[in-house]
Amino acid sequence: PPLLEMQGIGKAFGGVRALRGVDLTIRPGEVHALIGENGAGKSTLMNIMSGAIADYEGKMRLSGLEIRFSSPQGALKVGVATVFQELDLVPGLSVAHNLFLGQEPRRSGIFVDNSTMHRRAEAVLQRVGGGISPRSIVGNLRLGQQQAVAIAKALAVGEPRILILDEPTAALSTHEVERLFEIIRLLRSRGVAIVFISHRLEEISQIGDRVTVLRDGRAVATVPASTPQEQLVSLLIGESLRALFPP
Ligand code: ADP
Ligand code: MG
Ligand code: MG
Repeated sequence: PPLLEMQGIGKAFGGVRALRGVDLTIRPGEVHALIGENGAGKSTLMNIMSGAIADYEGKMRLSGLEIRFSSPQGALKVGVATVFQELDLVPGLSVAHNLFLGQEPRRSGIFVDNSTMHRRAEAVLQRVGGGISPRSIVGNLRLGQQQAVAIAKALAVGEPRILILDEPTAALSTHEVERLFEIIRLLRSRGVAIVFISHRLEEISQIGDRVTVLRDGRAVATVPASTPQEQLVSLLIGESLRALFPP
């Protein structure tokens, strides 16, 4: 059975229609890419899926139960975690402090001493690998490592079943992309479904299982990630446009 089902999802911003009845399913443990030209509706769909947009048309079900998120925090509580492009990290603080920021360590008294906090942080960081020190100052880390910390932070709360990544490779070096894909494979092997927006078709065959193509606010196809790039391009721009610009 699908983990997440979106049915007839619609969204308008004033007079601008961003989504026109999108159906999308996410299976447990799959890596599902979202692609589409600029303005196709990727971010809007992702924001609905992650709880950042609460006002939309249509239905969502999580493990068969109808849900409606009112915020990313609400989504996180039921196992849908998101790492937005603007990483939710405080650059001046240590990795460990960032991981537990917003949780309630002081009130619950769990992290009264630093060594306990660092031990807990190390356990969380192991989920993303890469040997990041809990003592490092986040602002001193490279972007790929900062992103790994943000993913670890998303995983630190509960046991997410879906991790949504907003254009995760956009600003990464080739090496950092490889590292990110290792993290994604590790999570997939543990049954976490990954949803990510990408602009690079070659990445999709490399890391994806399935890909949904959005065009003008519609999900025009969900196909295996191994689908030839040429076919994906046809889906992306539509056959009529393609005829105007032959390869
Ligand atoms: P994508 O991420 O695929 O580039 P978006 O979901 O960002 O597409 O945008 C889809 C459409 O909705 C675009 O026409 C965009 O201009 C519009 N849109 C998105 N967000 C807003 C907003 N907050 N206010 C007004 N229009 C928006
Ligand atoms: Mg855009
Ligand atoms: Mg976008």
